[in-house]
Amino acid sequence: MKPFETPIYVTKPFLPPLDEFCQGIKEIWESRWLTNNGPILQRFTQELCHLFETDNLCLFNNGTLALQIALQGLGIAGEVITTPFTFVATTHALFWNKIRPVFVDIEPDYYTLDPEKVEAAITPWTTAILAVHVYGHPSKLNALADIARRHNLKLIYDAAHVFGVKVNNKSIADFGDLSMFSFHATKSYHSLEGGMLIFRETALKGVFDYLKNFGFKNEFEVVMPGTNAKMNEMQALMGIQVLKYLEEIMKKRAKINDLYRERLKEVPGIRLVPPLPPTVRQNHSYMPIEVNEEEFGMSCDTLYETLKQYNVYSRRYFYPLVCDYACYRNISVKDPLIVARRVSGRILTLPIYDSLLLSEVDAICEIIVYLQRGKY
Ligand SMILES: *Cc1c(COP(=O)(O)O)cnc(C)c1O
Repeated sequence: MKPFETPIYVTKPFLPPLDEFCQGIKEIWESRWLTNNGPILQRFTQELCHLFETDNLCLFNNGTLALQIALQGLGIAGEVITTPFTFVATTHALFWNKIRPVFVDIEPDYYTLDPEKVEAAITPWTTAILAVHVYGHPSKLNALADIARRHNLKLIYDAAHVFGVKVNNKSIADFGDLSMFSFHATKSYHSLEGGMLIFRETALKGVFDYLKNFGFKNEFEVVMPGTNAKMNEMQALMGIQVLKYLEEIMKKRAKINDLYRERLKEVPGIRLVPPLPPTVRQNHSYMPIEVNEEEFGMSCDTLYETLKQYNVYSRRYFYPLVCDYACYRNISVKDPLIVARRVSGRILTLPIYDSLLLSEVDAICEIIVYLQRGKY
């Protein structure tokens, strides 16, 4: 079994043809408008409003600040029920708003927030649920909506992984009170860096526009303590150009996902997520596998390290759990997080990106099969 000659990373950003991007840069040079709601940002916003069939949409320089501003604009306080199985920014957004995170467990199939555990964790101080469509898997949309309605809680989605995902032909952004998308370079769709909020209440648009621009209402009036979270023209340009290739990118990822599933489905000790119902249009933003040490003959961590020797760089997303990071360890967690702890100890995300060759996927799977048989 030979290692790859050049490293295969977990992701590689899609880039539009260079001459297309240069054409756009010329426009920026001519306008000399670099940021502060420039013409390209306005065009990008219009395109996204068209794509998502809504005007309740606002762009930001990254997803983390978008989520932080979302919580501030919605006036969320007290306690928010959330998942520990996510990227740390989900919880950081709560921290910056002085909100107490209440971590509850995930369900074992798709690793999203477990509605039963959410319901059990509600207290008089609970104001919202912050769920994550982790890896691009839709959360338990109906169950969470039902709990939120019965308990009068806001339902907020960290939708950083689900750009392009649809459920029953509806955009994933149509669920809950608000969804935050990330356009970071490592995501399946990107604008260099970037963030987007899509929300139900139209009045929030004005609030978010103020908050991302220091709270300025006009030249002389600052109406709220905002921050600086504006998307610039270069980001918007990249966003527009990558958007043109979205369907192509998603198709290629789907093929890669199919091949991984085909090649790994019968490998002892490797668990793949169950197929999602055909009503879900997926974006295949990640390729998670669970490694059962006893059956596979190697721990998830050893597999991660060994793959590196073959020049394959998988990631242990999401290990450790957010509640185990030093900065959150002192928060009391009542839920034993049985599923989240088990999954976090076993999960590995394999390389997936549009330009990954099927022959490379084949070779990665071959290495995994070979390691499973203990011939290394
Ligand atoms: C990437 C990511 C974020 C943060 O988005 P940025 O645009 O990088 O700030 C938040 N939550 C999740 C789940 C993410 O994966």
